[in-house]
Amino acid sequence: MKSQYDVVILGAGHNGLVAASYLGRAGLSVLLLEKNNYIGGAATSQKVFPDYDAQLSRYSYLVSLLPEKIIRDLGLKLELRRRATASFTPYLNHGQQDGLLLSNLDEEVSRQSMFELTGNNTEFEQMKAFYNLSRVFAEKVWDTMLQPLIAKEEFRRRFDADDVSREAWRSLVEEPLGTAIERYLKNDLVRGLVFTDAKIGVLTHPHDPSLLQNRCFIYHLIGNKTGEWKVPVGGMGAVARELEQAARKAGAEILTNVELRSLGVSGKQRTVEFYKDGQQTVEARYLLVNFGRNVLAKYIGKLYQPDATDEGSVLLPYIDRRQHSCARPAREGFPDDDVVRAGCAMEFVCARQQDHAKACGEKIHPEH
Ligand SMILES: Cc1cc2nc3c(=O)[nH]c(=O)nc-3n(C[C@H](O)[C@H](O)[C@H](O)COP(=O)(O)OP(=O)(O)OC[C@H]3O[C@@H](n4cnc5c(N)ncnc54)[C@H](O)[C@@H]3O)c2cc1C
Repeated sequence: MKSQYDVVILGAGHNGLVAASYLGRAGLSVLLLEKNNYIGGAATSQKVFPDYDAQLSRYSYLVSLLPEKIIRDLGLKLELRRRATASFTPYLNHGQQDGLLLSNLDEEVSRQSMFELTGNNTEFEQMKAFYNLSRVFAEKVWDTMLQPLIAKEEFRRRFDADDVSREAWRSLVEEPLGTAIERYLKNDLVRGLVFTDAKIGVLTHPHDPSLLQNRCFIYHLIGNKTGEWKVPVGGMGAVARELEQAARKAGAEILTNVELRSLGVSGKQRTVEFYKDGQQTVEARYLLVNFGRNVLAKYIGKLYQPDATDEGSVLLPYIDRRQHSCARPAREGFPDDDVVRAGCAMEFVCARQQDHAKACGEKIHPEH
């Protein structure tokens, strides 16, 4: 380890690793400091079930927003697999358990399942029309994600091309998402399902005037222009390992088990004091911080005041399908891929937990 670097990066999550790779490849000296004893942050695979010898993605588990350009630039060897099932939403129909199954492979399966729920074909067509807005949006916006931020007005002009584009801009950027969802869809279950992508990890509601829900929805629907979420073979740990290799190959030095002590950010040089096999001090021209503002505030002696919208709660239960009847195939076509077999990750917004438990006809165990 040297005493001076061009760049010190704090936090070896996937964003820190990507930054380290590009900066190293640009010829800068890079030191990456991580507090955990593993690399990858929330993109990690760990042994989740003590009695089950499988490494599972522990937090982040699907890939959509990792731009293909980065995969190509850094030469990452990743296999991302399509999930046969886009979503399965259990519901009660006259006391009978049923479920809305949306397939990534066969539109007819989705159409039929929607018909069974709603009794008409309109809702499915309307859902397709609604999601087409996000396709149009992604087409115009995705490539800019790796470019300097474009002004809102310039973006808006890009959507002035035709009626569908103007509708996409209005529905996703100008009015609360709930307005468009209610305009397109009539069934409450379908509305709720569509809105799920607007609520993941944030506390908001369909008509939130802050439009937080719109931003959340857009992020979940524009990845690589398709918005499709794919399963990384080998779990998120495989993604992190590839990124770690890319960073090291680019010349970045990576230290784990680092205990950060203080940051000096006032002068021209940035100073980082940390403990790793003894007290260490390094200086850098640039300091990249890859953890939350709340953590940063602690090290630079500032008070952190969270925005009201920063507070959010999502429960991510892992369900061992051998023990949970609700997660077993309820009908033909229910997902039965390797990932589900290894332990099924399902994301529920906390408020829906009770409904789900009721639909399953059983109590969800706390550790689920
Ligand atoms: C439950 C859950 C599920 C998710 N599911 C998905 C998903 O399926 N797909 C998806 O794309 N995204 C998902 N996300 C979001 C995704 O995980 C994050 O966007 C992503 O991990 C952010 O990466 P990052 O590198 O910026 O930060 P992180 O992965 O959070 O990395 C930050 C790193 O900083 C380190 N650090 C913290 N404090 C210090 C310190 N004092 N000193 C040194 N290092 C420190 C941490 O240990 C960590 O390694 C999910 C998030 C959660 C919480």
